[in-house]
Amino acid sequence: MSAQRLKIAIQKSGRLSDDSLKLLESCGIQFARSKDKLFWYGRNMSVDLLLVRDDDIPRLLLDGVCDLGICGQNVTRECLLDRGEPGKALAAEVALGFGACRLALAIPEQQNFNSIQDLAGKRIATSYVGLTAEYLDKHAVQAGIVELSGSVEIAPSMGTADAIVDLVSTGTTLRANHLREVAEVMVSQAVLYSGTGQLDEASSKLKTRLIQRIQGVLKAKESKYVMLHAPKHAIQQIANILPAAEAPTVLKLDGQPDKVAMHTLCRETVFWEHLEELQAAGATAVLVLPVEKMLA
Ligand code: ATP
Ligand code: ZN
Repeated sequence: MSAQRLKIAIQKSGRLSDDSLKLLESCGIQFARSKDKLFWYGRNMSVDLLLVRDDDIPRLLLDGVCDLGICGQNVTRECLLDRGEPGKALAAEVALGFGACRLALAIPEQQNFNSIQDLAGKRIATSYVGLTAEYLDKHAVQAGIVELSGSVEIAPSMGTADAIVDLVSTGTTLRANHLREVAEVMVSQAVLYSGTGQLDEASSKLKTRLIQRIQGVLKAKESKYVMLHAPKHAIQQIANILPAAEAPTVLKLDGQPDKVAMHTLCRETVFWEHLEELQAAGATAVLVLPVEKMLA
């Protein structure tokens, strides 16, 4: 029997595609790309990539067809509701920080709104029927749901609905369609999920390694390596200014007995304000370097 290959599903073409692929490639996987095919072969690792519609990813994971998948939390929850499995969840391995959006309830700009109860007896257009129904149930509101597969935002002006539930990131589309957001149904981001299928030992180890690498990539993105010169008396003060810093390496400086060099890894974003505070504490020659890879 040939060795098992880890199957990873990502969105073929859409908002999550580029970030998903970049993330996997930054873990060291090299794919033999085939232009239109659904399937890319991992050349240097025992991994196959499936490129599919994002809505199909939770299903592929739940049915054990894929072992890892990247999709939005919104799509995952909707899929579970659609399957009549509201109590179930997919194993979320890593929240990835991209694909951030919210599922918002919006109504025509001019319309009054006091509470969600105002929607009783109204028609709400959405592509997220399960999540919308769950939200209405939670608030004990009985309203009609009009299922649309796209262009939900034009439903109120077309007269096919009184309100909408749709994904929003900046809100520009809502404003352009003279809608205003009145409630948040769900917040979402892209997540790396595990499938439910059985893995042999080698694939299981590879999966764990990939998850660790992904966590490393995300940590490295935020982290910075800071190098500076500090007056000896200010070592502690300077160490306290650096955000989420590891214990610093303190080195002698040739010919400067009152000064030291400090090197430290900061696990959170280093802002200009931090640098100005460091300078005020006596730090000089401050360098902030990006971290390319990191293994926690
Ligand atoms: P597919 O053809 O794969 O089904 P799609 O049209 O359903 O594509 P996209 O518009 O690419 O999907 O959105 C994919 C995911 O990106 C959404 O499910 C959501 O999690 C996330 N997302 C982030 N911001 C937005 C936004 N402003 N509008 C829609 N989705 C967003
Ligand atoms: Zn989709």
